[in-house]
Amino acid sequence: MTAAEALNDALRWLDERGLNAGTSGNLSIRVDDGLLVTPSAIPPSELSPERMVLLGLDGACRSDGVPTSEWRIHRDIYLARPDAGAIVHTHSTYATALASLRENLPPFHYQVAKAGGREIVCSAYAPYGTQELSDAVKAALGDRRACLMANHGMLALGPDLQKAVSLALEVEVLCRQYLIARAAGSPVLLTDEQMDIARDSFLTYGQPESRRVPL
Ligand code: 13P
Ligand code: ZN
Repeated sequence: MTAAEALNDALRWLDERGLNAGTSGNLSIRVDDGLLVTPSAIPPSELSPERMVLLGLDGACRSDGVPTSEWRIHRDIYLARPDAGAIVHTHSTYATALASLRENLPPFHYQVAKAGGREIVCSAYAPYGTQELSDAVKAALGDRRACLMANHGMLALGPDLQKAVSLALEVEVLCRQYLIARAAGSPVLLTDEQMDIARDSFLTYGQPESRRVPL
């Protein structure tokens, strides 16, 4: 499967599961000479692999079409994070609900550590499509693999598209679980030590070929 086909399939998958709706959200994959991003304002039903837009890491368009308005976020993360092979941005309901409270997702569940830290941080607000938003997202990400975007949505990255999509889905489910727990009472938060143990054990979680640290 080509990178463009994989992006096309992933955007449809996210749309079918309700993680994105209409033209909200965007995706990218790192390629040899830059990044391949979804086009701006095209609903999944009108999308095809040919419509994906190739950008250089300088932001210059190397193919036809208008790239996602958030191309700066995607470009800036690839420049800053050698571990990023793919990036998923969604306006999924529960992550966006928590981000509209401008709250971080705290360590209410050990799986929060899957994003690489003790909590998933919510960025400052900035208008969509701006360098200011890209800077805010980069700051909220830090060295982690996911963040919330104030009054907007969330972003997840991974070494490949499948892992970035999977993390985005997990972050959405965690936000849903957290908001349900909060509506029912006061979730007990895990300690820094408990979260660090979870984060370290995720380094060797999974099948040998997908482990972050080979045994
Ligand atoms: P694009 O259609 O330009 O990708 O915009 C959607 C979006 O989520 C902006 O933040
Ligand atoms: Zn968005």
